Amino acid sequence: SLEMKKIQKWYGALHVVRDFDLYVKPGEFLTFLGPSGSGKTTALKMIAGFESPSGGDMLLGSRSIVDVPPYERGIGMVFQNYALFPHMTVAENVAFPLTVRKIGRAETEEKVLRALQLVKMTEYRDRYPNQLSGGQQQRIALARAVVFNPSILLMDEPLGALDRNLREHMKIEIMRIQDELNMTVVFVTHDQDEALTMSDRVAVINEGRLIQVADSRSLYYSPQDRFVASFVGESN
Ligand code: ATP
Repeated sequence: SLEMKKIQKWYGALHVVRDFDLYVKPGEFLTFLGPSGSGKTTALKMIAGFESPSGGDMLLGSRSIVDVPPYERGIGMVFQNYALFPHMTVAENVAFPLTVRKIGRAETEEKVLRALQLVKMTEYRDRYPNQLSGGQQQRIALARAVVFNPSILLMDEPLGALDRNLREHMKIEIMRIQDELNMTVVFVTHDQDEALTMSDRVAVINEGRLIQVADSRSLYYSPQDRFVASFVGESN
């Protein structure tokens, strides 16, 4: 589980994340949905540890993580432009999180194979990233993000760079993988349709505030205010 308690972020005089109070259940798929500049990425970066909160606390399970460096948080990440290492093969890319954790060779091989099976990319293990399509690269990024069994997976607009058909396909793949691994996911998008179809719950964000956190049905049929209604509703 992930808990954000009154999390704040200021950039100078700009209050970018205001009072985030949120509990993400184990195995839950939760999406931050909001317009450009609303603070979604900043919130995700604080969970990842790439930015520190200006205030508040954050717990992973029962452990406070605000002072824990990113790579010791046990969090998997897929960002739109969090690229694969170009000089490493697919297998080496996927193995990377295990290498830095000093996992032994046999266990690494087995885990890499399992991760590649999960994303259906085993036959590409010896290729280099520039020999793969955008969608294939995203699958490898996903395999790399889950290979060490992270307690939580963060995804920031992972489908943003893909064309429409591929995006539909990857949506389904991500949902399948999340289900198979029973993984806790925090997903970021500005795409209403993506958020409503993929998530257990959606956290609607505007101007740094959590406006409403609810399942898709409730958001759609009982929006809390005009912003949610217009942002989530059919007008989009
Ligand atoms: P998008 O969908 O466009 O990525 P977002 O909802 O993810 O937007 P953020 O990237 O979190 O929004 O940015 C929120 C606000 O914080 C924006 O006004 C942005 O300009 C500002 N901001 C982000 N990073 C910094 C930074 N390092 N220094 C100063 N301001 C920043």
